[in-house]
Amino acid sequence: MRLDKFICKSTELTRSEAKKVLKQGKVTVNQQVIKDPATQVHENNAVCIEGEQLSARSSRYIMLHKPANTICSNVDEVYPSLLHLLDVDRAFELHIAGRLDADTTGLVLITDDGRWSHNIISPKKQCQKVYRVWLRDSLKADTAEKFNLGVQLQGEANLTRPAKLAKVADKEVLLTITEGKYHQVKRMFAAVGNKVVGLHREQIGPVKLADLPLQHWRYLTPAEVDAFD
Ligand code: URA
Repeated sequence: MRLDKFICKSTELTRSEAKKVLKQGKVTVNQQVIKDPATQVHENNAVCIEGEQLSARSSRYIMLHKPANTICSNVDEVYPSLLHLLDVDRAFELHIAGRLDADTTGLVLITDDGRWSHNIISPKKQCQKVYRVWLRDSLKADTAEKFNLGVQLQGEANLTRPAKLAKVADKEVLLTITEGKYHQVKRMFAAVGNKVVGLHREQIGPVKLADLPLQHWRYLTPAEVDAFD
């Protein structure tokens, strides 16, 4: 792992703050001052900032195929929290990186790494999410163009960001959005006079749900974790 990334993972420092302490000569690796943020380090290297040794926090990164009638919350409400589906230790110490409605199915990412989930959730990061949407009425010819330009959602100051719509069938589309406003997809279709009757998230950034069965979960691969770093 790169030294600047190791520092971020082991401390509260941001990537630019990590680069700054490196530049200031405050970081040693195996007792040698190292200034190059790209230096590769391993778990067994002694990395110190101003003499204090860092230890890599081992975070957990999980994907789950959410069923309907579960909620993306750490507490049960009308429906149970989807964290009950994880047979891991201390499941309720994890949090959900991007919530889905109770009736929505599909890909949910779960972690205990707040910096990582921020990269998925923060509107500034514009992380792409792909939804398969089933509609009450046939898709109108101008909906893709309207979504590309942005639509006005009730109660929002700004238009939605450009969204990509691909028609699958008369009443089925794939929609890619880069923000995550409350009930965003349902409200976007309401704004053009249609209604969402089924919603399923297939992809977040480059991470795809693929053939993970409903209600199942797995740990993300290192490459999938790195995609949001
Ligand atoms: N948009 C919605 O309307 N609902 C979801 O669950 C996700 C996106």
